[in-house]
Amino acid sequence: MVQLNECRTGSQDALYLEDTYLTDVHTSVTATGRDETGGKWLAVRHNLFHPQGGGQPADRGWLADCEIVPVRDAATGLVVLHPIESSGTGLDDLSEGDPVHARIDPGPRLLHAALHTAGHLVEAACRAEGWTLAGSNHFPGQSRIELTPPATGAQLADAGEREKAADRLRAFVRAAIAEDLPVTADHDGDGHRVVRIGDVHAAPCGGTHVRSLADLLQVTVSAVKLKKGRIRVSYTAAHRPLR
Ligand SMILES: [Zn+2]
Repeated sequence: MVQLNECRTGSQDALYLEDTYLTDVHTSVTATGRDETGGKWLAVRHNLFHPQGGGQPADRGWLADCEIVPVRDAATGLVVLHPIESSGTGLDDLSEGDPVHARIDPGPRLLHAALHTAGHLVEAACRAEGWTLAGSNHFPGQSRIELTPPATGAQLADAGEREKAADRLRAFVRAAIAEDLPVTADHDGDGHRVVRIGDVHAAPCGGTHVRSLADLLQVTVSAVKLKKGRIRVSYTAAHRPLR
């Protein structure tokens, strides 16, 4: 837990981008508003909560004792917090400038970070095959990377070739995890956040990630499938227990 007292109305720090493992913070309300149905939302100065986006689910979290759902507000760019319906009076008592305690459920946070990082790693293995990223989904139970083969990639129509490719992907993933490659983030010249796995992968990303690949457990890579001209590689991962 960290204590932060600074408050600037209308602005927001994205704590979830700075530290995946920070699970609670004392901060303050920086903005309030109403959604189209009249429901109240709040935004906090130091935002702990990852909103759904970039193929990653939202964090589960609370503001004071009220469970909230974080959503990226298109108009302001802020992550705004909506009380879930079963939370009673919700956020009605809070207004701008009020101190408030925010916390997340660490279980989903760590799982999402593990799945997201494993997704980058599987993507790196796929790029090494000469395939081009077309889409990704890091949700639990449905995590997959979709890619397009090069124009000369007709050999993937053969099941045996697909199985050989899957084995190469698994070997790539195993080797990178055995090396415990670091996972880092920095900002490029245009201010975009770039996430890197050692020197095998770099991609613009606003998600949460583990510290290094030794944080990953039980990474599995499915068979390589071909659907409507797209390559699909499903995967699973877990986070190793924290001490
Ligand atoms: Zn990412």
